[in-house]
Amino acid sequence: MKAFTYERATSVQAAAQAVAEQPGARFIAGGTNLLDLMKLQVETPVHLVDVNRLGLDRIQDLDDGGLRIGTLVRNSDLAADARVRQRYPALSRALLAGASAQLRNKATTGGNLLQRTRCYYFYDPDKPCNKRNPGSGCSAIGGFTRNHAIVGASEHCIATHPSDMAVAMRVLDAQVETLDGKGQRRVIPIADFHRLPGETPHIDTNLRHGELVTSVVLPPPPAGRQVYRKVRDRASYAFALVSVAAIVEAAGGTIRQARLAFGGIAHKPWRVPDAEQALAGASPAQGAGTAADAVLQGAQGQGGNDFKIPLLRRVLAGVLAEATA
Ligand code: SF4
Repeated sequence: MKAFTYERATSVQAAAQAVAEQPGARFIAGGTNLLDLMKLQVETPVHLVDVNRLGLDRIQDLDDGGLRIGTLVRNSDLAADARVRQRYPALSRALLAGASAQLRNKATTGGNLLQRTRCYYFYDPDKPCNKRNPGSGCSAIGGFTRNHAIVGASEHCIATHPSDMAVAMRVLDAQVETLDGKGQRRVIPIADFHRLPGETPHIDTNLRHGELVTSVVLPPPPAGRQVYRKVRDRASYAFALVSVAAIVEAAGGTIRQARLAFGGIAHKPWRVPDAEQALAGASPAQGAGTAADAVLQGAQGQGGNDFKIPLLRRVLAGVLAEATA
């Protein structure tokens, strides 16, 4: 690990300012991803600003029936919160499907959104990787691609985003609240928070340097049954091959409206309006194929991940059957 300096921030504004003022500085909270990356020298921050003691660890009720989740709320606390379990069960289930109990006790809401891809080559400093070292190439293309993207990828990067929590937040239309080094606050819809790789796969989100995620706001829960289903290589401590977060309102065997978000298939949580529109007025059996066609428009396997295309169809059919049963 490379040498770095460390400070414990005493206020939210001071934390944002400390990082903004120093290129190469980073925030640290749970550290469950960043410390691993530092040990491998994939990330080499010159200065760490510890935000753990800033009081951003509360879950507040909002007047409209939504919730504001502080960025430092631990994943296990968020999953266990009675309001989240009752009103946002897809989020609670997604959190419990992620990582291990020990990691969930430490990992934070903000850190979960900001975790980096688990592409094997990204973690191997001996291999070319445009995300780690821009312009060096992509070792995954033509390599081992079981975990990689089938939609939204580019010729520069085919990595996926690893978060389960973010997929549930995407289907819930969460909003990310931030504060920058100049004291300016911003609200970023989660749809615009993560980026596609394009020609700049080294930039994962639309945050600016020194911009601190302070909280995530969940709007009031929409009508309908919530489901989160994750398919992975083993039952615990594995990232999604395909995951689906769904909110489905149905009556008499017909879907009135549905929302769908997918994980494990793209560089960001994936949501396709045409797929949701295809489900309105359809039975689950009728709608599943049409919705999957819309999600998979332009999908391209890389060999090792070709199986994700038929797998997504089957997982979506199962989720819709469960949500309307
Ligand atoms: Fe790097 Fe992305 Fe290629 Fe993986 S897929 S090797 S993260 S550029």
